[in-house]
Amino acid sequence: MRSSLTGLCLALLIPLSSSAAEPSFSEETVRQAVRSVEPVRKRSAKRWKAGPEYDHRYWIVVHASTKEQRTLLASMGLSIEEVQGDRVSGTAHAKDIALIKAKGFTVDEMVSLGDLAEKGFPAKDEAFHDYAEMTAVMKGLAAKNPGLVSMFSAGKAWQGRELWVLRFNSSASGAGPSSKPGVLFMGAHHAREHLSTEVPLMLAVHLAENRAKPEIKALLETRDIYIMPMVNPDGVEYDVETSQYRWQRKNMRVNPGGEIGVDLNRNYGYQWGGAGASDQPYSDTYHGPSAFSEPETQAIKKFVESRANIKTSVSYHSYGGLIFWPWSYSYDPIPNQEDLKVFKVVAGKMAALTGYVAEQSSELYASSGDTDDWMYSARGIFGFTFELEGGSFYPGAAAIGPAVKKNTAAALYLIGAAADLRAAAR
Ligand SMILES: [Zn+2]
Repeated sequence: MRSSLTGLCLALLIPLSSSAAEPSFSEETVRQAVRSVEPVRKRSAKRWKAGPEYDHRYWIVVHASTKEQRTLLASMGLSIEEVQGDRVSGTAHAKDIALIKAKGFTVDEMVSLGDLAEKGFPAKDEAFHDYAEMTAVMKGLAAKNPGLVSMFSAGKAWQGRELWVLRFNSSASGAGPSSKPGVLFMGAHHAREHLSTEVPLMLAVHLAENRAKPEIKALLETRDIYIMPMVNPDGVEYDVETSQYRWQRKNMRVNPGGEIGVDLNRNYGYQWGGAGASDQPYSDTYHGPSAFSEPETQAIKKFVESRANIKTSVSYHSYGGLIFWPWSYSYDPIPNQEDLKVFKVVAGKMAALTGYVAEQSSELYASSGDTDDWMYSARGIFGFTFELEGGSFYPGAAAIGPAVKKNTAAALYLIGAAADLRAAAR
């Protein structure tokens, strides 16, 4: 995720210079903390608890005022989550932080993720779907809508969980070919971005429940729609399997040194290993040992390559209220002016429907090996990345409804436009 709003458990932020002394907080920090956290832990409790043995990650706030500086930070392993003025916030491994400081960046604040992991799916966030619950919803939709909805697996994640796909097509099912314009929706490349599963999953529910309505019916009869709400099910399960969120971003690959995970949104094959991705396995932006090294991205590659009719895609992330188009790896615009117009116009329309801001991905910072750069360069697919809203990875169940409503509207627009995106942009 990448974003521009602050909304985190800032009450727990501890100034670097005074971790053993009385913490000092700016009024703004405290105000933000009160606004964003529930429940707010007492500051006096467990100030500096280490995460799991292998997890030495922290939430940090760093001074960086340009996209070039932000790209450098991402390259050093910082997963940039919030950009506010000249301050950038996100998660990074202790070794990344040492490098960031060695490069001359000022790290203002730093707190162990172990101290932030205080909320859990089971209780107040039970409205969110874990892997089993999502699977059950998808199976139910397929069972109740024969002749329209089919379900299959695009492959297995690192630990063996299925990468479930729902297909909406009135004349083809499963892996069967279709010449109808195809649209692919994906969620949860990044495990902790749980809202990014809810939006595509609830889009599927909406399509099924409203299949008889003329405007939905017209789309369902003329399109080939694929919905994969959980690209990284292993990471999602790891994030929610205890009563405490673990802030897991990557998949669950066990790297040779024992570090966990590859950033799936840095593992795609176009310009893999370039700017904004880390080559260190402990980093949250680790790009993996090679392009498409991960079973999850490999599955999407095969899935897309076997379906030439796919015209456009959305990869949902959270949180920031943004809609991105390529390039992500470069600050340059894509060279094809007609395609660029399609991206700008279509993203602009979806921005109007969501209230989000649409821009080229690298406007915030560059990152290489992301989904859209590959979709567009390798397949000519108009791939968009949405940073949903919520102001946090864990915004609470109340965030689901509004996000689903506006993003369903944007998705329906895109499904409609998929018939001829260049015409839609005229
Ligand atoms: Zn993300």
